[in-house]
Amino acid sequence: MTLQFYNTLTRQKEIFKPIEPGKVKIYSCGPTVYSHPHIGNFRSFLVADLLKRFLVFKGFKVTHIMNITDVGHLIDDADEGADKLEEQAKKQKKEPLEIAKFYADSFFAASKLLNIIPADRYPKATEHIDEMIEMVKILIDKSYAYAVNGNVYYDVTKFKNYGQLSGNTIEDLNAGARIGINPEKKNPQDFALWKHDEKHLQQWASPWGKGFPGWHIECSAMSSKYLGDEFDIHTGGEDNIFPHHECEIAQSEAASGKKFVHYWLHARFLLFDGEKMSKSKGNLYTIDELIEKGFRKNAVRYALISSHYKQNYNFTFDGLRAAEQAIDKIQQCVFRLTDLAGNAPQGEISEQSQSLVNTCLADFDEALSDDLNISKALAVLFDFIREANKADGINIAEAKLFLKTIEKIDSVLGILETKKEDVPEEIIALAEKRKQARADKDWARADSARDEIAAKGWILEDIPAGGYRIKRREDTP
Ligand code: AMP
Ligand code: ZN
Repeated sequence: MTLQFYNTLTRQKEIFKPIEPGKVKIYSCGPTVYSHPHIGNFRSFLVADLLKRFLVFKGFKVTHIMNITDVGHLIDDADEGADKLEEQAKKQKKEPLEIAKFYADSFFAASKLLNIIPADRYPKATEHIDEMIEMVKILIDKSYAYAVNGNVYYDVTKFKNYGQLSGNTIEDLNAGARIGINPEKKNPQDFALWKHDEKHLQQWASPWGKGFPGWHIECSAMSSKYLGDEFDIHTGGEDNIFPHHECEIAQSEAASGKKFVHYWLHARFLLFDGEKMSKSKGNLYTIDELIEKGFRKNAVRYALISSHYKQNYNFTFDGLRAAEQAIDKIQQCVFRLTDLAGNAPQGEISEQSQSLVNTCLADFDEALSDDLNISKALAVLFDFIREANKADGINIAEAKLFLKTIEKIDSVLGILETKKEDVPEEIIALAEKRKQARADKDWARADSARDEIAAKGWILEDIPAGGYRIKRREDTP
């Protein structure tokens, strides 16, 4: 299946060719750890997770790096305003690194709830100051950067491709810029690599005096350290395209003389009431808040991955409820197949069953190979589930094959919470007995099956979409 992605750099879908056959190196811009991450942030992080899981599904060995920004990200994303992390530290009367640790832990906890496969490394900016200083020195040596009064700026006019990612031109940017903001800069678009500011709480020694790094240099320095000067895929949210990623390209390519990144993937924003969900607007939800409202964590994951990453996703509670129903449909099928895998008659896999599975896996692969077309991929899964539910008289081998197929697909989607082995077969059998009793309108038999399930420490809930859900009772270990 030809794998292709929409590359922000070339503004077209391109066939994916890894630099090294069979291996893919990915760098994702991670969180700025000054507040709890919201579901908008996680939409972007989940695009990286889906991408990574799918590449693994296709047999690639993936190396994934995601940075943790704990210094240098200023309020306006460029060179003006306070450092987001330090603002928070002052507000809470804490040390910047205490703030960073607290919110980084919050990010890791939420990533776990969302079943995100951890990156191979999460390098922190404050632990890579030496690497950043080295890169700034190279940029000065190569005349791409200049030092003034303890600050170092990148001269954007020296990098001929500046603007290629975002489509901006220096002339247009200058025309839109406020004039005379910073007399130290040779050009209004020059950006800071190193900043001198006596009031800044976090300071490091450097050849240009005490100071702290700009935001963009961290990702250039850390990606080259862990992935090399040239790597396959860089991800982020659409707001990272400019200035952050444009500046990363300018820094990295000027320093190394090599092509920095082959494919740039950017997730469009998650919206709430038609507006970008963001910390600054305050219109946000965290994963914990949604769980407190009674939504299941895998439904949050499902909702956030279920629309194409190049389209905005408008977050609603109805969307979350629809996600719960979709998951229940998959889960019910898994329960039924699990039951059959234990109780159906022995037999061989029929040609029809094998071909159903082959078509499903091939179509799923084809859908996601086309720039991660998740809607198509989900449609393939639900078609398969419909067929699997219809299949009467399937044998143990076929039930197992169907289960394996759903599990293989879920290795990419990551939404099935209760693995089949978590719910004992006798409980599933009782649930099926009750379902049959209800279908027969034999309420006494149905109730006794439910009681028996409860006595064994499980809760059976009927779900609006039809079918049921089995959960462990909270008071049983
Ligand atoms: P930050 O913690 O602000 O540095 O953001 C972390 C990541 O979340 C970045 O890649 C942003 O592009 C992304 N992001 C922020 N808000 C949204 C949103 N509403 N929808 C999608 N991605 C977002
Ligand atoms: Zn970055």
